[in-house]
Amino acid sequence: SRTLRIGLIPGDGIGREVVPAGRRILEALPSSLKLNFSFVDLDAGFETFRQTGAALPERTVEILKKECDGALFGAVSSPTTPTKGYSSPIVALRKRLDLYANVRPVKSVASAVSPIDLVIVRENTEDLYVKEEKTYDTPQGKVAEAIKRISERASSRIATMAGEIALRRQRVRDSTGSGGAAKKSMVTITHKSNVLSQTDGLFRSTARQVLSQPQYKDVEIEEQIVDSMVYKLFRQPSDYDVIVAPNLYGDILSDGAAALVGSLGLVPSANVGDGFAIGEPCHGSAPDIQGKGIANPIATLRSVALMLEFLGEEKAAAKIYEAVDGNLEGGKLLSPDMGGSAKTDEVVEDILKRL
Ligand code: NAD
Ligand code: MN
Repeated sequence: SRTLRIGLIPGDGIGREVVPAGRRILEALPSSLKLNFSFVDLDAGFETFRQTGAALPERTVEILKKECDGALFGAVSSPTTPTKGYSSPIVALRKRLDLYANVRPVKSVASAVSPIDLVIVRENTEDLYVKEEKTYDTPQGKVAEAIKRISERASSRIATMAGEIALRRQRVRDSTGSGGAAKKSMVTITHKSNVLSQTDGLFRSTARQVLSQPQYKDVEIEEQIVDSMVYKLFRQPSDYDVIVAPNLYGDILSDGAAALVGSLGLVPSANVGDGFAIGEPCHGSAPDIQGKGIANPIATLRSVALMLEFLGEEKAAAKIYEAVDGNLEGGKLLSPDMGGSAKTDEVVEDILKRL
């Protein structure tokens, strides 16, 4: 048997309501999986910032690095006006732990007329997000500039991640017969190299090279210019399998794709590095429903499963996905964002029963 130590970072708002649900599902996994968990509660977020002056306490980073195999992050609130000393803890964590990939699966219920089951793999460390900006005066007024940095190394490792995810998804489809025999493995490389021939050009050529290696011979390589990608993604989402993109396009595509399946409360993500993963629901702290006990826990439960996949526990992950799908297909115990009237706890209990 294996014991995984998991850091729990609820953060703010409904993060505090959904992260406990994530812990419950890990504790409820069948013992036949021979997986045990130990947990450590960790602070981060705006409330932590108000109390301590740091949104990401050093203790949190140290414990994650030294003790943990993975973590679950809820959500944090951002100040509405620029606040001196505050910066986003999840952005800092991605840097400190070198979590270079942001992985966001978007999946509709299987009974949908045209089922969506795709995953966006976003590079998480560079591109315009290196935040090297400057502003200067000219006779015509101010000009602001930002650096867009693309490296071979970062492009190569994100393309490798996309290739591995495509292979894993194929394995799961083969073993469960789900998704239909028709769905083939494909990685769509998204870029704008027709305009940005050097930066996006490097991303594109590096990704192509990586995915042309023999281990990915069963993975089809496709390319889309990012604007046309948006069009096609919204017209024909069921055509896609794995989409890999530089940071900025990946950010936009992954929020956009989340809209395809109805509620933000359904969409998970993971921040992944080599040997470490943090699950994180894609929604924020939802102050409008905080404290009411009605937050949809599914994005978090799926984020737990996604974390497990990257920790090498595909079977345990599959159990969670199936239980969640069962709840959604059942259609009886749904939270208000899904048109139902169930409380967070009732949704969680229904899903635990299905494990
Ligand atoms: P939000 O995702 O918190 O909420 C948007 C809408 O979706 C709200 O109406 C909310 O009630 C609903 N919603 C979100 N998650 C839900 C769930 N699990 N179940 C049911 N309904 C859900 O986005 P926002 O309102 O723009 O931002 C609120 C705060 O969260 C802000 O401070 C923002 O900066 C922060 N935020 C944090 C993250 C993060 O931590 N990763 C992401 C986005 C926003
Ligand atoms: Mn975003």
